[in-house]
Parts: sequence; structure tokens; C-alpha cells
Amino acid sequence: MHIASVGVSKICFLFSLAFCGLLLLLIPALQPSVRQVDLPKPRPAQMGTSHRVRVPGDFLHAGDKEIITGPKRSSAGLGKPIKTALGARRTPERGVGGLSEYRSRDKLELKDIFIAVKTTRKYHKSRLELLIQTWVSQAKEQTYIFTDGDDKELQVRTGANIINTNCSAAHTRQALCCKMSVEYDKFIESQRKWFCHVDDDNYVILPSLLRLLSSYHHSQDIYLGRPSLDHPIEAAERVKSDGSVSVKFWFATGGAGFCISRGLALKMSPWASLGNFISTAEKIRLPDDCTIGYIIEALLEVTLTHTYLFHSHLENLQKLPTDTVLEQVTLSYGGFENRRNVVNIAGELSLTEDPTRFKTVHCLLYPDTEWCPKLKPQHKN
Ligand code: UDP
Ligand code: MN
Repeated sequence: MHIASVGVSKICFLFSLAFCGLLLLLIPALQPSVRQVDLPKPRPAQMGTSHRVRVPGDFLHAGDKEIITGPKRSSAGLGKPIKTALGARRTPERGVGGLSEYRSRDKLELKDIFIAVKTTRKYHKSRLELLIQTWVSQAKEQTYIFTDGDDKELQVRTGANIINTNCSAAHTRQALCCKMSVEYDKFIESQRKWFCHVDDDNYVILPSLLRLLSSYHHSQDIYLGRPSLDHPIEAAERVKSDGSVSVKFWFATGGAGFCISRGLALKMSPWASLGNFISTAEKIRLPDDCTIGYIIEALLEVTLTHTYLFHSHLENLQKLPTDTVLEQVTLSYGGFENRRNVVNIAGELSLTEDPTRFKTVHCLLYPDTEWCPKLKPQHKN
């Protein structure tokens, strides 16, 4: 009886050993399979370091390398740059799992973007009408047109949001800064997540804009745009000191358009809100787009994320590869000096019918638009 009970306990012991072994083997398989790839967590940056790499060649498209900066200091998170879906490097917010978490939690929609178009009364017919007819018609609710004269007829006929800033119609630094100042205040008031500024000779490719901004989060410090220079601009520091020292900073050229996250825009408030933008610009004596760069890079120490998806007519737009045109975020067309500086894209409309190529781009993006030429029927023989 005793011998038998010893045998039974031995069997029990061996059985429990085998069971434990089986459990150990099963543990990895029983773990939940969520979040297989976690984005790296931010780690403290070296103060004062800013790594900027210039990629040769003007025209890069979504998915390609962009010209990117490393972080200087961002109050949203001191961090090591990470790669995003668009190849841009940026800093994830401190203590949060990563951008994938943001994306699934609150997906960015077009209505979250405030698009400001800067114009002037004399360009309502020659420039603005084309925009209202094309891309603005697809984003009517969130596009605000900042001008310097009333045009009730245009407003009633098109239903566009036209704001008379009452700023001077002159092409002076003061007048342009006055408009930017109103744009900023209206954005803050709007509660939208992103502020994007464009000129009245820009086409905004809305799906690309949405895709680009979706790579970031509006509560982070994000300033996106295209520099027009290959070096930072230098100005006498008259805001933080008496002007005896100078500061160097990058800025996104207004003629190509730029975007700022709400988180960053709120931090700009002491130098940008309620007329402060005009006095900041006066102190450094620079135009509106440079002043934006100054407030963000020099005062807030947040770096511009250089993206070459924004285009102004300072570039040779013909060089933009045809198959990448619809992936860009903004386009432009030549001014008086070079009417032929337009994107190279073919469609049903000739250069005479569509000299800016904006209608052609629009019809490729939205072929159901009622004024778009229908594709010519193919003849069978
Ligand atoms: N603009 C303005 N007031 C003027 C002239 C121009 O607000 O007296 C605006 C214009 O509508 C455009 C921007 O400033 O949105 C840039 O103007 P433009 O394209 O003529 O000049 P550039 O791009 O060469 O600076
Ligand atoms: Mn222009």
C-alpha cells in the first residue's frame, strides 16, 4: 500500500512537471499580438544641435526623401527624429506610444484643416475665380479668403468665405503682415487642428495635404513648408535683445504655402495674436513669411520641417515629373515674368484653354466636375 502511494506521488510529480513545461512553451503564443511595431520613444536631444541635410534636386514626391531637419528643442517633446510614412523625420510626443496610436484614435479629416488664401481686390477676377472654380470648391467650408476689399457679388455667387481684412491693398510688408495677422487670429478662433496658408496663385491638392498632415499630430510642434533659400536667413535680434546680436533661422516661403499645427500656433500667440504679429514683423523688419519663421525657429526654437511637396513659381515648375504632379501638396504658376512656368501635365484642355494647368490638374483629380471636358470617345473601325 505504502509502495503504491509512493508510485502514485511520483507519477503526479512527473505529470505536474510535464504540465508546467507545456505551460512555459505556450506562454509566448498566448500573449496578445497587438502593437508588434512600436515607434521608438523620444530621448533627450543634444541641445543646440540641428542636423539639416540638403538633398540635391528640386522635385521629390511623397514617399521619396524630403529635406528634413532634426529637432532643436521642442516643448512637446525633446526627441530623436523618427521616420514617418512620408519619409519626413520628426519627433514623437513624450510619453505616448507613437503616431500609429494617434492615427487610429482620431483620424484627420479635411474639416480639421483651416486653409487661408491671401489675395487682394485686384486679383479677385484674374486669380481667385480660378481657385474658387477648382480646389476651393472641394473645401468650401474650411477655406477662408483674406482680401482687402468687399466683393459681395463674388461672395453671393460662389458662397466662398471671403474676409475683408481692411488691411491696405498695397504690396508692402506692413500690408502683407496685416493680412497674416488676421489669418492667424481667425485660425485660433476656428478651433481647427491645422493652419495652412497659401497664396492666390497656388493650387492645393487636398488629398495630398490630408495625407501629409495625417503623418503628424496637431498637438505637436509642427511647422511644414518649403524654404526658398538654401541657407537660413539672418536678422538682427530685436525681440529678445536690443538688436546688437543676430539670429539665423529658416522659414517656409509663403508663395509655396505652409502649415502649422494648432499646438504650435497656440505657442506663437505672444508674438502673433491680436496685432502682435505686426509689431513682431516691424521689429525684425522682415516680410510675413519670414516673421512666421522667426517666431517659430528663433523664438520658440522649433525647427521647420522642410518638405518639397510645396511649390511656388520661384521654381522651374516644368521640371516637376509629370507622374508626380498629383502627389504634390501645392502647385503654382508663372507670374508676369514667366507665363510659361507651369506644371507639365497633359489633359483634354490645351495650354490656351488652361494656361495655368490648374483646370487640368483639377479634372484629373475630380473628373466628375461638371465643366470638365468629357473624355473624347474612342473611334472603332
Ligand atoms: N498680394 C497682396 N497685395 C498686393 C499684391 C499681392 O495681398 O498688393 C498677394 C497676392 O494676392 C498673392 C501674394 O500677395 O497671394 C503674392 O503676390 P504675387 O504672386 O503677385 O507675388 P510673388 O509671388 O511674386 O511674391
Ligand atoms: Mn505668386
